[in-house]
Amino acid sequence: MTDLDWEIRELGHPQLRKPANPVLDIAEPDTQRLLDNLLTFVVQKQGMGIAAPQVGISLQIFIMCSHPNQRYPNAPVMKPACILNPTILHYSTEMEKDWEGCLSIPGLRALVPRSNAIDVAYDTRQGERVQIRYTGFLARLFQHEYDHLQGRLFIDHVDSTLDIMTEKQWRNTLSTMA
Ligand SMILES: [Zn+2]
Repeated sequence: MTDLDWEIRELGHPQLRKPANPVLDIAEPDTQRLLDNLLTFVVQKQGMGIAAPQVGISLQIFIMCSHPNQRYPNAPVMKPACILNPTILHYSTEMEKDWEGCLSIPGLRALVPRSNAIDVAYDTRQGERVQIRYTGFLARLFQHEYDHLQGRLFIDHVDSTLDIMTEKQWRNTLSTMA
């Protein structure tokens, strides 16, 4: 289980800016073990998701594991999903801004405009190609993780630097608004 000593690459690390490679051998034991380790790791880190490039692995893989927590009390509960070789087939023109953070950018939050709904295709860990529509929070999460496979980060999308806050200030602001 040495894989789980993974260090998360943080903003400025060149790995986060490199497009990831397709996974060609989904059934291989090495790939399946990597997926198991990513699932364990994202739970350990209490993330909503993690993409392979964040732990230094340049493959088109991410985990989505939405669940309500302090930062996102309204996040839907989902069974953690392994997403391999994803593409976004369609983006809704309606956009919405909401707060995002990232394990690779600790201490910062930003208001990020994203499409409300997306149609996507990806390979499951069983090697089956599926198509699905995501809306709302899950559409946002998918777009955030998908960005990691393209070498993009959420801060690339902000309309203004005024939409960026430190985590501490974000918590203060939210509590004064509540
Ligand atoms: Zn991220």
